[in-house]
Amino acid sequence: DLLVVGSANADLVIGLERRPAAGETVLGSDLVIHPGGKGANQAAAAARLGARTTLLARVGDDAYGRMLAEAQRDAGAALAGLLVGPTDTPGTVGKEGIKEPGEGGATGGAEGKGAPTGVALITVDAAGDNSIVVSPGANARLSPDDVAAARALFEAAAVVSLQLEIPLETVAAAARAAAEHDARLVLNPSPPARLPEDVLALCDPLVLNEHEARLLLDTGRSLGDDPREWATALLGLGPRSVVITLGAEGALVAGPGVGDGPTDGIGMVRVPSPRVRAVDTTGAGDAFTGALGWRLGRGDGLEQAVRYAVRVGAFAVTRAGAQESYPGAAEIEAERGE
Ligand code: ADP
Repeated sequence: DLLVVGSANADLVIGLERRPAAGETVLGSDLVIHPGGKGANQAAAAARLGARTTLLARVGDDAYGRMLAEAQRDAGAALAGLLVGPTDTPGTVGKEGIKEPGEGGATGGAEGKGAPTGVALITVDAAGDNSIVVSPGANARLSPDDVAAARALFEAAAVVSLQLEIPLETVAAAARAAAEHDARLVLNPSPPARLPEDVLALCDPLVLNEHEARLLLDTGRSLGDDPREWATALLGLGPRSVVITLGAEGALVAGPGVGDGPTDGIGMVRVPSPRVRAVDTTGAGDAFTGALGWRLGRGDGLEQAVRYAVRVGAFAVTRAGAQESYPGAAEIEAERGE
């Protein structure tokens, strides 16, 4: 099973010609609301592909929380870890109930208490560039106690996938719980933040895009334009392996036994992405990482898993939206040999 521990947000999207300056008002398009958040996206991507997936996350007892629960259910993910309701008292998750799949998901919380569901306010300008403001809401209340209470989910997991849109102490607790239960750890350091050394050392792989790689490596010395250099520097931070996603260029994989290097040493391989007409790159990285976690859990080697994940990422950019753009396994198979 794949356990994704992370964020769930409602993405509120408005298109506009250009962004307003301070104090200015501009008119935009109709508002569109999508289920989002890196955790929810990754879980939806993996579940769509057929992975047995659970999302451990917090949403508010509100309409957005219900939308997110529904999106997880539609994708085929289990709702057992979607926590709702009052979040003021840490460690009450057992009483709030880690719900069984189908038990009602986000409708089960106590009335009107606790933090609202996380929201991302997204504007997209005419050039396709976006600006995003995130209000973490309930995501900020996902606690190490929630991780402790979700023990059964970690026991069942072959792979645990993490991102950084929840408190860092919760990320660390989840990483350690994964290690305790012999689950493989996939971690996307986004938004970039400094991680405890023992957590970094568990990452297999650390998955990140170019932007995140640069921020994580911002040690004062300048980095060149060669992703191989970044990979080497990132490995120096301690993870067991590294995957750098490179948009249309695919991904770079670095780790033990990768490529033609000595089987016990570190090898690196560039994995090209299929050429596609990009419509909307939102959530491509999350689709990639969800797919990667699923394939690793099935027993693929890292390089093999990345070869699959780039196809899923490429598919995701050919359709609008994040979760709505994610393919099923049959759709990925159908385009083989194109
Ligand atoms: P993020 O969405 O986190 O910025 P990337 O842009 O690196 O991550 O994209 C993740 C993956 O999605 C890539 O490795 C690639 O497989 C796929 N992808 C993204 N953009 C494109 C594109 N324009 N054409 C083909 N594949 C793409």
